[in-house]
Amino acid sequence: MTHSPTEIRALLAAGGVEPSRALGQNFLADANVIRKIVRLAGVRSGDRVVEIGAGLGSLTLGLAEAGAVVTAIEIDRRLVPILRSVVEPVGATVVQADVMEMDWPAQLGEGTWSLVANLPYNIATPVVLDLLATVPAIDRMLVMVQLEVGERLAATPGTKAYGIPSVRRAWWADAEVVGKVSPGVFIPPPRVESALVAIRRHEPAGDDAQRRAVFSLVEAGFGQRRKMLRRSLAEMVTPEAFAIAGIRPEARAEELVIADWLRLAAEANP
Ligand code: SAM
Repeated sequence: MTHSPTEIRALLAAGGVEPSRALGQNFLADANVIRKIVRLAGVRSGDRVVEIGAGLGSLTLGLAEAGAVVTAIEIDRRLVPILRSVVEPVGATVVQADVMEMDWPAQLGEGTWSLVANLPYNIATPVVLDLLATVPAIDRMLVMVQLEVGERLAATPGTKAYGIPSVRRAWWADAEVVGKVSPGVFIPPPRVESALVAIRRHEPAGDDAQRRAVFSLVEAGFGQRRKMLRRSLAEMVTPEAFAIAGIRPEARAEELVIADWLRLAAEANP
């Protein structure tokens, strides 16, 4: 039921649409990958799913086929009429909007939603992190992103990929790279490999004041990630505070788990 490469080319040609690189338009043209995304997202009949960047509706059709009630968001005016003609017959709702400026509470209302999306790669990290921080109604995500971005989002302490996005994500949710996707399944193919990342909300690691305190330490610590924390955090954390928090001043930012950052933030100068 999803689009073949020929159908994608035909839809683009009929609408006179040249894919926009600025909008990250790489359309999925592989039924197996779409089935895999729907399966990994754990979509069940009746689930409410929001899709960001629905494009020509390839993934929307796969989600609807699995019985999801889909709200499909798309910014590009050129694509919206095509998207409507493809996905409204299977019951999906199309919203023309810039996802960075959505009024999410008005759009989603009560209850919980999943996000399933082949995200525009240039805004993938802020989309995921902003939704985690501000839209609790979305309680799980299965997103396709650039491989490096996915690895950073899902990274655990002690790895090269562990950085600011990993800690910010870990504050709100668990994440795992659950698949890799090669450029050949897209029209046009992107220059990079892609990753499928599964994200599941848990209780936040602390309250808002703790989060602000932790995130400002994390920014400073990873801002100079090769330095020992006693240097990168010299203006915020005294030697006594390191000792009380039980953190070695010689440690580097990439070694600390959220619980370490929380103890350190509790002892830091605001
Ligand atoms: N879901 C389709 C698929 O898998 O074939 C298209 C995915 S494509 C990688 C990303 C889509 O996001 C494009 O259709 C693009 O126009 C849309 N997009 C880009 N920026 C957006 C934004 N700020 N808000 C909503 N949609 C956006």
